[in-house]
Amino acid sequence: MALTNRSKTVTVRELTWSEKLYLPAIFKGMMITFSHLFKRTPTIKYPDVKREIAPVYRGQHVLKRDEAGAERCTACGLCAVACPAEAITMESAERKKGEENLYREEKYASIYEINMLRCIFCGLCEEACPKEAIFLTDRIVPSSFTRGEEVFGKDKLVETTESPIDVTLRQRPEVLEFKKDKRHYHNRTFKDAKPRINKHH
Ligand code: SF4
Ligand code: SF4
Repeated sequence: MALTNRSKTVTVRELTWSEKLYLPAIFKGMMITFSHLFKRTPTIKYPDVKREIAPVYRGQHVLKRDEAGAERCTACGLCAVACPAEAITMESAERKKGEENLYREEKYASIYEINMLRCIFCGLCEEACPKEAIFLTDRIVPSSFTRGEEVFGKDKLVETTESPIDVTLRQRPEVLEFKKDKRHYHNRTFKDAKPRINKHH
């Protein structure tokens, strides 16, 4: 029983003499191919040519350092819990005396890994982080020949002190303004003066 009247009866008819030659069909196909030589190509020659992408594009992550160069991540694990792809793993360690210039908090991530093959670049880790330690950036994750290479450790994730990665566009102006206020413990580096905790703010 037909549910609609859109059905079409197809019959197999005999090919004509010219159709049996196939030459007109081949010629028609070649013309279509040839016409594409003069059209604008939709593809680019990546990685020699790169497309312009939005500054808030969600690409390769960065683990940020503070203004004094100490790693911001305190290995709280909230990013890993928030990650729907279970792409983040870490191990925490306790900061030793004299390492205040290396790690901002008493606890830090001795191992921090993101499996880029699992990551779906949703940005939830960035949203979950209470320490403004992890951000996604406009860098495209490079391809590799082995799966193991796609597990990015701290060597690839933590920014270098020489070339910090600007993530200000990912933060609202109110947040950027708040970060300048050194009365809040959250905004202090190891170089900033004590007292450490201001309970009124
Ligand atoms: S961007 Fe999303 S999927 Fe990728 S590590 Fe962060 S939370 Fe997980
Ligand atoms: S990146 Fe942020 S949320 Fe993840 S462990 Fe470090 S401080 Fe916690």
